[in-house]
Amino acid sequence: MKKLALHWQILIGMAAGVLFGILAAQFQWKTFVVDWIKPFGTIFINLLKVIAIPLIIASLIKGVSDLKDISKLSTIGFRTLAMFIGTTMFAISIGLIVVNIVRPGKLIDAEVRNELMANYAGDASKRIEAAAEQQAKGPLQPLIDLFPDNIIGAAGSNGNMLQVILFVTLFGIALVSVPEERARPVKAFFDSANDVILKLIDIIMLSAPYGVFALLAALVVESPSISLFTALIGYSACVLIGLATLILFFYPTLVRLFARKPAPFFLKGIAPAQLVAFSTSSSAATLPVTMECVEERLGVEEEVAGFVLPVGATVNMDGTSLYQAIAAVFIAQSMGMELSVAAQLGIIVTATLASIGAAAVPGAGMITLVIVLAQAGIPEAGLALIFAVDRPLDMCRTIANVTGDATVAMVVARSVGKLGEPKMEAGQG
Ligand code: ASP
Repeated sequence: MKKLALHWQILIGMAAGVLFGILAAQFQWKTFVVDWIKPFGTIFINLLKVIAIPLIIASLIKGVSDLKDISKLSTIGFRTLAMFIGTTMFAISIGLIVVNIVRPGKLIDAEVRNELMANYAGDASKRIEAAAEQQAKGPLQPLIDLFPDNIIGAAGSNGNMLQVILFVTLFGIALVSVPEERARPVKAFFDSANDVILKLIDIIMLSAPYGVFALLAALVVESPSISLFTALIGYSACVLIGLATLILFFYPTLVRLFARKPAPFFLKGIAPAQLVAFSTSSSAATLPVTMECVEERLGVEEEVAGFVLPVGATVNMDGTSLYQAIAAVFIAQSMGMELSVAAQLGIIVTATLASIGAAAVPGAGMITLVIVLAQAGIPEAGLALIFAVDRPLDMCRTIANVTGDATVAMVVARSVGKLGEPKMEAGQG
């Protein structure tokens, strides 16, 4: 019998996890789920995260050194960054259009607002503190933070991915700059390390259906009461409409126009990464799967995927930026504030920066949202309003984040002649 494709297995795992979570909540098995099921979800995320830094190192060194010609790297780098910024700004504009048409803030009455604020005031203040810490550093601190003073230290934390990327790119450039026979052993080592790591990802992904089962079951038993969710339906619907526009129309159109590949091919190819993004809420944890999908199922050559995707996972977050724009306007609306056109244009700039600054981990977008609120003069305490639904929306915006990275990888790859035929049919494994 033909084995079920991995993304179907993952989907079944997700559905079973949600069902099990609902049953567990009914029968008061919360402690059992938290003690005995949730840990397997955590183990799955750890397995994905542990491979992220070795993967970036091996694939980037292989990628850059395969390019041989450094000017090609700068072409790829420039096009990638331009597309990252362009897609992010487009995403924010969609968010602003939707939230201004639907006006979900007007649907929240004073009573519900006070209840939400009272419930989540403590959580909100923690996010505000975290954002204040980020902001207290000087204006050039983010630039300084790109340059590690110790590479072992930088590679020691998944939070320093950009530092590792910078160092490894320089290392790759140096590698192609020494005579070929001197470079050969180092290059051969990283080429083969890269193959081993890709195999390792295949092995880890065998546990994905069980991992997502555990993650979703735990999420369902730990989520807040349904009545708070319903109050926020209008707001959540705006975010979901915006994200769906990106995922189902905007990205496939870019792929169709600029990478000359049909939408179903693209959406099928990236589906496993989307499912893992949804289950883990983290672009960083999803990176190994995104890389595999983009290379094996979408046909992007390693030189491009190995550069675009790690950088994209850390800085290109279209879903997050769209959510930040909607959340900011929603909070303002529900507090009775009217935001001027100028203030909303300001949000395009701050949400772009805030999404770049957000780490690729669960809930990060909400921390940097504080910066968007502060710049637009919206009270930060309003974060408490949107807390109840943040996790499910985080899961969905992470899908958009990884799909956006894959889109840029395809378009850039095609523009430099590095988009080939996929090694694996999208329907397979
Ligand atoms: N969870 C998102 C990601 O990792 C970031 C966020 O919006 O919170 O892509």
